[in-house]
Amino acid sequence: MLSLPDMPTEKALIGGEWVATRSTLTVEAPSYGEPIGQIARCGAGEVDAAVRAASGALTGWLTWTARSRGQWLLDFAQEIERNEEQLSALECADTGKPMSQARGDIKACARYFRFYAGAADKLHGETIPFESGFSVMTLREPFGVCAQIIPWNYPAQIFGRCVAASLAAGNTVVVKPAEDACLSVLRLAELAMECGLPAGVLNVVPGLGREAGAALAAHPRIDHLSFTGSPETGTLVTQAAARHHVPVTLELGGKSPQIVFADTDIEAALEAVVRGIVQNAGQTCSAGSRLLIDDAVADQFLDRLAERFFALRCDVGEADADCGPLINARQKSVLESRLEAALSSGVRVLAKGRLADTAPGAGHFVEPQVLVDIPEGHELLREELFGPVLVVQRFRSEDEALALANETDFGLCAGVWTTDGGRQWRLARQLRCGQVFINNYGAGGGIELPFGGVGRSGHGREKGFEGLRSFTRIKTVAVRHG
Ligand code: NAD
Repeated sequence: MLSLPDMPTEKALIGGEWVATRSTLTVEAPSYGEPIGQIARCGAGEVDAAVRAASGALTGWLTWTARSRGQWLLDFAQEIERNEEQLSALECADTGKPMSQARGDIKACARYFRFYAGAADKLHGETIPFESGFSVMTLREPFGVCAQIIPWNYPAQIFGRCVAASLAAGNTVVVKPAEDACLSVLRLAELAMECGLPAGVLNVVPGLGREAGAALAAHPRIDHLSFTGSPETGTLVTQAAARHHVPVTLELGGKSPQIVFADTDIEAALEAVVRGIVQNAGQTCSAGSRLLIDDAVADQFLDRLAERFFALRCDVGEADADCGPLINARQKSVLESRLEAALSSGVRVLAKGRLADTAPGAGHFVEPQVLVDIPEGHELLREELFGPVLVVQRFRSEDEALALANETDFGLCAGVWTTDGGRQWRLARQLRCGQVFINNYGAGGGIELPFGGVGRSGHGREKGFEGLRSFTRIKTVAVRHG
């Protein structure tokens, strides 16, 4: 198991200083079920100090031109790349995800800073034709203090997604990382300070959701809130922010379908279906957690899928197996009891991966599995499981596939596998979700592509240029001449 590098894990970053808190929280390595270190337990006082520091840093930060902010982001991207091995090892130990996935996450984090470095000085308002005697334009201004509550499944990636875009747009930031995994975020914050980011522009307040998170969402001096996590907590933070009319971006869960028609490259679809649910042990908001399979090829496809699942192995993150553990004992026990209830209602396990003999018994492992014979309307078909569990439904027509795909309150992603161009476009338009991937799933994580949900999956868009605009507001200026 990793021993932590020399870094201030037990402190919060407030106004450029690493500040000790009265008490700390123990963080666990999910692969081993053992403590890995201590983190700060911030309360309302630390959160208030962080918001004030971010507010105080705004004027100075706005004296930086967009180009100089972009240059800082680029320098920081390079610093992340120089520290890729250490950051990946931290992410792997802290979340339990396989090392190659952790490495991919750190690369993606650096790419967010590179992308928004280039975008910072390309963000501008418009001029608007109006009555004679007037010149009218819009200015794109930063919100001010952006609060960001981020989850444990992709700490470094989501830090990159939110922090890079909000800093590029000229905001200052207070980040509340998740108590279950935040070591990479702390190290990234330390590197940001070493890279010369002015004090107070980035603040990090680790702690419990109900303490630090709740205090941040309810703080009267934040100007924008982005939240990634569960729909239930999303509702709580929205209610808290509404008290001060603070705009909110919500990135919640999903129950995303992969719809496989007979007229597709079956091997490519098979690969993407396996990867779409096994990646990060299924703890991904955009996981392809439902397979809708064309009845014409279902038997053949499911045979091949079962072969693939039987061959999957779970092991500790460092072993870089197919699948790591779940994040903690609670997530494991909730998932296992839901699976138990499902099996007693007639649901059948078609295939299951195996735990490596070397995997420690105290790790929070759940084998990747495929479930079939699921009764219509069963909660497994609608509710997020947040584990490596794929549920299967068959369809006989395009209309039936569409109806099944849209039969959930979530609406994050959909994969469509077909070579029929007309069908591709019909489904792209009719699927109720934020992104449709045709003959691929996830577009390689494309940080350039706007991302977000509809319905219970949330609202607002992050990533890409749209994500940069999301951290700004429009001011209209109308000038009457003479
Ligand atoms: P959560 O939504 O409670 O936690 C996400 C973040 O919100 C963490 O930083 C947490 O500290 C914070 N938080 C928790 N309660 C808060 C509150 N009252 N006020 C402000 N912030 C608060 O998620 P969880 O309990 O860690 O996981 C439970 C479920 O959430 C998972 O099973 C999964 O379904 C979902 N989830 C989704 C995502 C995603 O990427 N969409 C990520 C993590 C978890």
